[in-house]
Amino acid sequence: MTRPFTGDTLEAELITPRVDSRRAKLAGRAAEQIVNDVVERGWPVGAVLASEADLLKRYGVSRAILREAIRLIEHQHVARMRRGTGGGLVICEPDVDAVIGPAVIYLLRVGATLDEIFDTRILLEELVAELASQRVTESDITTIRSTVERESEGTLSNFRLLHTQLAALSNNPVLELIVETFSRVSSFHFDDGARVPAGFDREVREAHRGIAEAVMANEPGVARERMRRYLRSEADFIRSQSATVQHLDPDVALGTLGDKRGEALARQIFAELINTGAVQGTFVGSEAALMTKYRASRAVVREAIRILEYHRIALTRRGPGGGLFVTEPDISGVVDTIAIYLRRHRVQAQHIAELRTGLELAVVTRAAETLKSGGSDAAAIEAALHAESQQGPTPAFGQGEEFHSILGRLTGNRALHLVHSVTLRLWWRFLSQVAADDPCAAGARPQRQSLPVIRAHQSIADALLAGDSEQAVTRMRAHMTATAPLRAH
Ligand SMILES: [Zn+2]
Repeated sequence: MTRPFTGDTLEAELITPRVDSRRAKLAGRAAEQIVNDVVERGWPVGAVLASEADLLKRYGVSRAILREAIRLIEHQHVARMRRGTGGGLVICEPDVDAVIGPAVIYLLRVGATLDEIFDTRILLEELVAELASQRVTESDITTIRSTVERESEGTLSNFRLLHTQLAALSNNPVLELIVETFSRVSSFHFDDGARVPAGFDREVREAHRGIAEAVMANEPGVARERMRRYLRSEADFIRSQSATVQHLDPDVALGTLGDKRGEALARQIFAELINTGAVQGTFVGSEAALMTKYRASRAVVREAIRILEYHRIALTRRGPGGGLFVTEPDISGVVDTIAIYLRRHRVQAQHIAELRTGLELAVVTRAAETLKSGGSDAAAIEAALHAESQQGPTPAFGQGEEFHSILGRLTGNRALHLVHSVTLRLWWRFLSQVAADDPCAAGARPQRQSLPVIRAHQSIADALLAGDSEQAVTRMRAHMTATAPLRAH
């Protein structure tokens, strides 16, 4: 039996976080309406969307709920409230900073190491090198030549410039954003100022020249290889520095939470949870108890709670014995901020599909390695296939038991798992949107039937379990091609 992919099911099961709080839902919905209005207005950065009075009328919520929604929107860098005459909600540019916070907090909570972050960054930039080689234009060549030229003259201070330019050349805004995020996240682990000594400087210039030449010569394989070799030596160099740490200092992660009163309180509560080693399910407090404990107003406590919920640090449970509880680390905060960025930059299905293909190939390669070394659990793959054949891939995905999700986890790399899960979630979210916007757009809904998908998963799994990683990668590539969106729009 085939199972149709309906947008409604996806909305309910895969996207909406399970927040058991009416306030959180109302504030979240109002925040979403604000984003929709900003998109509808064409995202005019610097313009005033509306005054607080207008917003109250438009969204039909209480002033308290609206302020919680606005705090969320400010936290996501969508808009900020300007007081006084000519004030109102001013539209902002959501940039990489909005994504870094939730990403860093997630990585801190799951205990990801610098090695895992480097490994992920390398495979992302390998993908950049490959795509840039295929897409380089005449004017790009002028830009790259000038950068390499300035580096060899020693007049360029930003030694990451070439990487940033190549990421832009990939013509894929999602990949560009994630590469920048990981570059910045990795820099939280070491002293950024002392990273390039004189001796290493020449090596960097030569490596950059080599990568640039391969890109300009349209040689994706060579560009990939040179990028990987260069980033590995950069990683080795950074690891050898005394200020470099494998595990992130919690204070650094806390710094990303912001300085507004609600944000500062969220930071204080999070710091205490870290210091006391609070685990999932730990009771943080009721609203009233938190007001007393932190001598904060109800409004500030509520803003702090919305931010802790946004980062899935804690969630509110209703009813007797309810209140704020520590939750397990969850990627929703990262997904939400990236989704906002994608709406700002009008990202299309093929951008997400392209990133996904690159990641799935890397994931299957790494999963094969850990399986071979006995470092991961073959039974988990069997369980995923079983769950899919019983329930269909959609509900299995909702429970994190679907084939691709399991492979991502089997890599054993928590940073890679983050990027992979985020991309998967964005992909499913995109599918649900297509289904909701246009029920006839069957061509853009690749997985119309679950049977061919389950069969493809089974064949990849067979190769993996037989220890044949080449066959597994080839089958994964074929599976990605078969499920790719049409390039029509
Ligand atoms: Zn699949």
